This record gives sequence, structure tokens and C-alpha cells, in this order.
Amino acid sequence: MAAIQMNKEMFDWALAGDKPVLVDYWAPWCTYCRKITDAYEQIAQEYGEDIIVAKINIDDEEQLAIEQQIELIPTLIIYKNGRAEASVVAPESKAAIDAFIADTLGVREEKRDEKVYDMVVIGGGPAGYTAALYAARSGLETIVLERLSAGGQMALTHQIDNYPGFEEGVDGYTLGQKMRTQAERFGAKTEIAEVLSVDLAAMPKAITTNLGTIYGRTVVIATGANPRELGVEQEREMIGRGVNYCAACDGMFYKGKTVVVVGGGNSAAADAALLSRIAEKVIVVHRRDTLRATKVYHQPLMEAKNVEFRWNRTVDALLYGDKLYGLRLRDVHTGETEEIACDGLFISVGRQPATKLFEGQITLDGAGYIMADETTRTNIPGVFAAGDVRTKALRQVVTAVADGAAAVHHAEEYLAGMKA
Ligand SMILES: Cc1cc2nc3c(=O)[nH]c(=O)nc-3n(C[C@H](O)[C@H](O)[C@H](O)COP(=O)(O)OP(=O)(O)OC[C@H]3O[C@@H](n4cnc5c(N)ncnc54)[C@H](O)[C@@H]3O)c2cc1C
Repeated sequence: MAAIQMNKEMFDWALAGDKPVLVDYWAPWCTYCRKITDAYEQIAQEYGEDIIVAKINIDDEEQLAIEQQIELIPTLIIYKNGRAEASVVAPESKAAIDAFIADTLGVREEKRDEKVYDMVVIGGGPAGYTAALYAARSGLETIVLERLSAGGQMALTHQIDNYPGFEEGVDGYTLGQKMRTQAERFGAKTEIAEVLSVDLAAMPKAITTNLGTIYGRTVVIATGANPRELGVEQEREMIGRGVNYCAACDGMFYKGKTVVVVGGGNSAAADAALLSRIAEKVIVVHRRDTLRATKVYHQPLMEAKNVEFRWNRTVDALLYGDKLYGLRLRDVHTGETEEIACDGLFISVGRQPATKLFEGQITLDGAGYIMADETTRTNIPGVFAAGDVRTKALRQVVTAVADGAAAVHHAEEYLAGMKA
């Protein structure tokens, strides 16, 4: 059963009934709203007997959204006996939605059967689904465990212009869905579940999710590396509407415009240098009074006519209507604030590899990335690391998919060795 798209009349009808109602308040322009779609549709399938699972587009039902005091989206609300019981904003995983339902209604998702797969892929981004495609196409029984939606980070962007084969560019969410469908055409399965712990030395390797434990003869870790967030209000909701994390990806949208780069390390400096060749003006905001970046970046940036610096400042708030139009900055010493105008913000305050789960089992580098070369082999035989999660110079969709293919090539070698 799919989630029901509701208007005000249907909403009133649903609330008057006996069943609890779960509503996802969303809008088509909200990238994070799309990102929870896979998880939410699975919720609709799994709980449809017990709960009415609905979606309300706040652009179409503006008055209803005001009445329900929706200030951020996506907001999920559970209604019981006609009244709002509990809400959650921008859940990070399907497991978080399961827990929200269980806490509010006491309805629990059933645990899955235990099973041994030839390959368990952790993470459904481009690296994970490419591994799944290659593995399933080679006849390996394959499952992808993804906590939220296919596509990973790229599902947050409306336009990918540097992935070959799409002359007009491609929407990242759509590309993620296509990758999933393609892998599933050859028999790969997807489970929307969060991996909570792993035992990779065991044989078969044990992967425990919020739905139970499954087993794999091989494991591909493709959990990605997320850009660190600033932590300002509405940051996630403004992604794609002025807030960006990747100058190489999104810089071209700001040709002739004013952009702000936040950060002072190598990647911030490299982003500022790149953007200074595209944008009319680049303002670098850094909380110290000098860049941490290696010296090689300093001079070109200081000499660039269109680069300005706001030292000792942090971003206090985003200023926006439909799109970002400025920032409120705060002086870290005096606490004084100022507002500056800009068309885009590039947040370049580091990345955080999703490797916490593997600490103590898999060898990580100093920054927390999995140590693996082009073969994607890790220190544990039969375990491979593909995409942004591994040590590498360039983290892009095209390099992630290449890793996915390489991982399967070497996993097949490993499996052949096991049989010999
Ligand atoms: C806003 C934005 C725009 C971008 N634009 C471009 C672009 O234009 N061109 C380009 O080439 N690159 C772009 N990138 C970078 C690109 O998206 C990444 O390099 C690429 O997605 C990496 O793929 P991946 O499969 O390695 O990891 P990810 O895409 O990070 O996918 C990892 C997946 O693992 C899942 N996961 C993590 N932990 C768990 C767990 N414990 N249990 C279950 N699932 C888990 C996550 O939910 C996620 O879906 C962009 C990135 C961002 C954030």
C-alpha cells in the first residue's frame, strides 16, 4: 500500500476515523523531503494495516499547514483520536521513523528472517548500488542495506552536471532511483534498515540492523562521507536553495553571482579559489584570523580581486525567502552581528566519514576514512570499502561508481578462492 496523498477534506475524514493517522508534511522543492521517500513508502507498506499513512503537500494545502503549525519540513505527525499526539522533524533514517511510531503507538515493526547472502552492501548511494548491480548481474545473491533512500548524498541535489551520459545533467534523486531499479532488475534486494553493528571477522560476516541480523560471505562498505554541517537553523531544508557543500558540483550555478565560503582549511581554500573563477564575488568567512590551509593556497586567494575575507566570524543565521539571500554573521570576540548579502553559501568545514560502526575492526586513516586502495580491499579478507568512505583524492559520483565495480571484481576473486 502506498502513502496516500491527502487534501484537507481527506485529512478531516481520516482524523474522524478509528485508525491512527501518520502524516508527512512535505513540498516538492524540499530536497530532504524527497530523500525520506523510500523510507516513508516502506513505512506505508509495512504499517498500512494498522495506521493510515498519508502525505500532505504544504504548497497545495497552505491553510492546513498553518493550522497544524508546520514550520519546518519534512515534519511527520501522528494523530490519534483526532488529535496530534507526537511529531518528528527531518528523521535521519527509517529506523528513526519506526522508533517514533513505536514510541507513540506501541506498534512495532516485525523482525526479518536471518539469511546468508553472497554479498551484503551497506549503504545505498552510487557506490553501493553499483556494487549491487555488478554483483547481482554476476549471479551473486545480494542485498543492499540503506537507512533512508537510494542515492545517498547525491539525492540531495537537483542537478548533477558532471556524471557522463546525461547531456542536460540529471537530478540526483532520480539518478539514485534509477541506480536502485537497475540493480534490482538483476535480482539485488533492498532493505530500508539501519546497520547498528557488524562482526566482520566472523564467517559468515554478521550485520545487525534494527530489523535483525543478516549474514554475508562478503561485505561492501559503502556508507559514504557526509559533509560536516554548520548546524544553523534550516540548513538542511535550504540545500539546493542556496546552501551547498560541494563547489566542484554546484559552483557553476553561481556564475556572475556572490557566494560565501565558510571554512579555513584546505578544502575551503580550494573551493574559494575555484569559485573565484566562476562567481563575481567570493566572501570567505572563517572563525580565526588566518587560514589553516597550506601556504600554497594563501597567495592566490589574497591576490584575487574578487575574494574578500571576514575573519573571526561565524555564521549565525541564514537569511532566506524562497531562496537564500544573505547571512547573519557573528564576531567571535565581540559577539556583534552583521548581515551580508549573497546568492549562495558553500559550507566547507570538513567531511565526516560514516565509519564509526567499523572502528576497532577495519583499519581507518587519521581522518577516519577506511584504508583501502583501488582494489577496495580492506584489512579484513572479504570486506571491501567503496566510494566516499575510503581513502581517496576525489569524492564524486563517478569515482564512487568505479569503486562499486572494483569491489565486486575483487569480491568474486575472494569467493572463488573460498571454493577452491
Ligand atoms: C549536496 C551535494 C551535491 C553533490 N553534487 C555532486 C555532483 O554534482 N557531482 C558529483 O559527482 N558528486 C556530487 N556530490 C558528491 C557525491 O554525491 C558523492 O561523492 C557520492 O554520493 C558518494 O557516493 P557513496 O555511495 O560513496 O556514498 P553516499 O552517497 O554518501 O551514500 C552512502 C549511503 O550509505 C547510507 N548509510 C550510511 N550509514 C548507514 C548505516 N549505518 N546503515 C544503513 N545505511 C547507511 C547513507 O544513508 C547513504 O545513503 C554531491 C554531494 C552533495 C552532498
